[in-house]
Amino acid sequence: MLILGIESSCDDTAAAILENDRTLHASVLSSQDGIHRPFGGVVPELASRKHLESVYPVVAEALQRARITLDDIDLIAVTQGPGLIGSLLVGFSFAKAISAVTAIPFRGVDHMAGHILSVFLEEERPTFPYIALIASGGTTSLYLAEGYTSFSHLGRTRDDAAGEAFDKVAKLLDLPYPGGPHVARQAAGWKGDLISFPRAWLNEESLDFSFSGLKTAVLNHCRQQSQAGSELAVGQVCASFQEAVVDVLVEKTMRAARRHGIGTVVLGGGVSANARLRQALATRAGEQGLKCFMPRPAFSTDNAAMIALAGYHGFIESGPSAIDSDVYSRSSLG
Ligand code: ATP
Ligand code: FE
Repeated sequence: MLILGIESSCDDTAAAILENDRTLHASVLSSQDGIHRPFGGVVPELASRKHLESVYPVVAEALQRARITLDDIDLIAVTQGPGLIGSLLVGFSFAKAISAVTAIPFRGVDHMAGHILSVFLEEERPTFPYIALIASGGTTSLYLAEGYTSFSHLGRTRDDAAGEAFDKVAKLLDLPYPGGPHVARQAAGWKGDLISFPRAWLNEESLDFSFSGLKTAVLNHCRQQSQAGSELAVGQVCASFQEAVVDVLVEKTMRAARRHGIGTVVLGGGVSANARLRQALATRAGEQGLKCFMPRPAFSTDNAAMIALAGYHGFIESGPSAIDSDVYSRSSLG
């Protein structure tokens, strides 16, 4: 079965061609980073307009790279939510329109299911059940995955998402948008002492996250340095902030695995492109005798291959979506 995956939930237009749930024939992504950079964040109206321009060429390029035409496609998998409604509508309406004209079935996909399953795009695949830490610009959540369509939501952020915190700290330090990779690069260059920023553990039981206090602590530190007339060590702030985020993400993932008696942990979402997080989770998992799997950075951030994969399993499990189904801004997964 050949699946055309389409993703347009936020600020990237992406298309992919996947054969069953294993062989990736093409994965194309058109990034809007340059458009939103002057604003320091995604401008929804600009994002949806750019998706409108990009969706056709991106899908055409994916088909071309896979050396196939629409006639060869058996299923269209498309992100249905969560995300920006105006952005989602472009990809979703495009998929529905192709489906209506060609009679190729289409399947709406939850973007979070895509991130939870993105690790299956790799050679080394986990077996169920596993704990998935999904950390991105819009969400930071822990899921228990018991099958390709069976997820329980164990914890979520109560305020900022981890990626959002990276982006806000970057903005504070005058680093370009999106900030995550820039903060990571600055952090990697710092070899000195770290500032001890707060870690929000909430309570001992909690699998929820909170990053707004950390963001405020970084802001306060920057203000104090400026008032004292001292030069800000950007690398030190980035490394200390990153360490605080990674500590909490890793510890809570381990906590979830222990509590549910699960022997495998999996990463996903844009923040899992972070080298320090990948290294820290792999090390801690190894120490505790847990298996650890993660997608390569290109499949950690938004992409259409993971949407095709999740759509394939959704379709196998419960068939196509109805033509009158609609997009949604918040995930109710698990
Ligand atoms: P979602 O709807 O899943 O929240 P998203 O729009 O946030 O999607 P993703 O590609 O999943 O898109 O995640 C983007 C986030 O990941 C941004 O906040 C970005 O700063 C962050 N990010 C990307 N690379 C890194 C990195 N190396 N270190 C830390 N954060 C990163
Ligand atoms: Fe995402």
